[in-house]
Amino acid sequence: MSGPISARLLPRTVTITGGRAAVGGVDLATLADEFGTPLYVYDEHELRERCREYRAGFPDGVHYAAKAFLCGAMARLVVEEGLDIDVASGGELHVVRHAGVDASRVVVHGNNKSDDELRIAATAGVKAVVVDSHDELDRLARPEVVGDGRLRVLIRVNPGVEAHTHEYLATGAVDSKFGFPIATGDAMRAVERVAEMRQLEFGGLHCHIGSQIFRREGFDAALDALASLTAQIEVALGLEVDELDLGGGLGIAYTEADDAPPIAQHAAWVHEAFGAAVTNAGVRHRPRVTTEPGRSIAAPAGITLYRVGTIKTIPGVRTYVSVDGGLADNPRPALYGARYEAFVATRADADRDQLVTIAGKHCEQGDLLIRDAEVPGDLAIGDVLAVPATGAYGHSMASNYNQLPRPAVVFVSDGSARVVVRRETLADLVGREV
Ligand SMILES: *Cc1c(COP(=O)(O)O)cnc(C)c1O
Repeated sequence: MSGPISARLLPRTVTITGGRAAVGGVDLATLADEFGTPLYVYDEHELRERCREYRAGFPDGVHYAAKAFLCGAMARLVVEEGLDIDVASGGELHVVRHAGVDASRVVVHGNNKSDDELRIAATAGVKAVVVDSHDELDRLARPEVVGDGRLRVLIRVNPGVEAHTHEYLATGAVDSKFGFPIATGDAMRAVERVAEMRQLEFGGLHCHIGSQIFRREGFDAALDALASLTAQIEVALGLEVDELDLGGGLGIAYTEADDAPPIAQHAAWVHEAFGAAVTNAGVRHRPRVTTEPGRSIAAPAGITLYRVGTIKTIPGVRTYVSVDGGLADNPRPALYGARYEAFVATRADADRDQLVTIAGKHCEQGDLLIRDAEVPGDLAIGDVLAVPATGAYGHSMASNYNQLPRPAVVFVSDGSARVVVRRETLADLVGREV
């Protein structure tokens, strides 16, 4: 049946010696022994290289979408690599600032920002707030929210674009809770309102059409829509648009079946489409084009390690291999039907000639990490199973379901490993009780 895991799905520092896989020069099974399982392992080199590819591809600016994976170490890493950070809540803003990142490097998102979130962002001096609704403009108009300063804002528009991805991940179609629709004239009206508000500086336009996108058509269509609106703003309002932020959304390969374009290819397509779009639309002042990737920076750098605890064969039906994590550390399979592949950390070069279903340990039949996973025929209790491409929307979406303590996060680099988020303890589970 199937051969070993493809190198294409692994961080670039992975080496396999005598069947044992190492990442960042550190043996995966040894990490599992030392730090316990489940364990989120990140290849720091892979994270940095991806940031650098984005910086090279989008010299006008890159904002890392913190929601994909956030902790202090990650916030500092992306800022060291020259990226700014986008946050989608007061909590994310707090974690980023707690890491020592200056607010001037932070862009604030959200379709329902509270007065407090807006006030804290404005007082801290964030780089920009991306405005999502007329109600938000009403809030920003209140003197106690922005104060005496001047807040730079982008207008999030809904370009009415279908992004060819999972329904829950598509955010740019007309029927969406995000942004001001262009089609209804609301986007134009929002820019007009910003121009009338002394406490706001109009910085430009933003859109985010969805996530895990492989094809360029959606981005091309979004750029066309943004360029048309830009030209309209120039003519009707006499305003220049400084920045077009294209959002994130570039897909990554979770399995051998996924064909995701490299970052450099995506960047080349965007610049080509952007050039054509501003020319066609007759834009006079060419805006800067920026992007805010999350998944495509964090996901490919992360590997989650589990230990196999129970193997149950139902003859003629299937074999369930249960591991010591699941739904709580990675809700994506249950939430989106997301697919992954797996390999055994100590036999990473083995053919995967047995079909099993890898299940979590939660009390839900839907707690299946990988339905029909290919694993080596000799998979046994005690083996460390590694699931690559789990660096995004795993740790950040983790819960304490069934009161499982959340796993630790370990960064590996140049032969050494450091814990950047410790494993939760049983005491943490009751720590908020009063
Ligand atoms: C989630 C999100 C992103 C990042 O999306 P990815 O698919 O992870 O790249 C960027 N911008 C906004 C506004 C988002 O909501």
